[in-house]
Amino acid sequence: MTTAPQTRPTGLVIALDGPSGSGKSSTSRGVATRLGLRYLDTGAMFRAMTWAMLEAGVDVHDAQAVAAYAPTPRIESGTNPTAPTIHVDGHDVGEAIRGEAVTGAVSPVSAVPEVRARLLELQRTIIGDGDIVVEGRDIGSVVAPQARVKLYLTADPGARAARRALEEGGSD
Ligand code: C5P
Repeated sequence: MTTAPQTRPTGLVIALDGPSGSGKSSTSRGVATRLGLRYLDTGAMFRAMTWAMLEAGVDVHDAQAVAAYAPTPRIESGTNPTAPTIHVDGHDVGEAIRGEAVTGAVSPVSAVPEVRARLLELQRTIIGDGDIVVEGRDIGSVVAPQARVKLYLTADPGARAARRALEEGGSD
């Protein structure tokens, strides 16, 4: 497995993680907007990869098939915190990746090392020289361990459940 070279960004990198419903997306976007930083939702990248697999008819429970397809889709993340975008092979999948099909399949896809390696490379390319808030697990430990600020958000179970219900399992 190859991994992208790890350069040390000169700009600020803020890594933000937390369970679903903790408010990490709205917090990340709010912080990025106020500080004039870019914003990267790594969960959306895993969802986009999953959308591509489903679209191509890949059995998401067949790790070998998932690994074989992992290099194929072109995934592009727009990093404006007030209007983040995500495209797969030129298709705007911003809404589709929040649907039930993707939500139900993203976990096995995300567990495949070739998927993680491919997205790690994309994430490091986007992080580049920094000035970015990056949301998702593994960011402060694997993707950008040199991040100057590492935050873990939490919320009480009632608030998380209420937020999840409101957003129907979408990004929080
Ligand atoms: O944050 P979100 O719910 O959109 O993430 C979707 C899924 O993508 C997570 O449940 C997890 O399986 C995977 N993921 C991951 N590593 C990340 C971000 C998301 O494995 N950095």
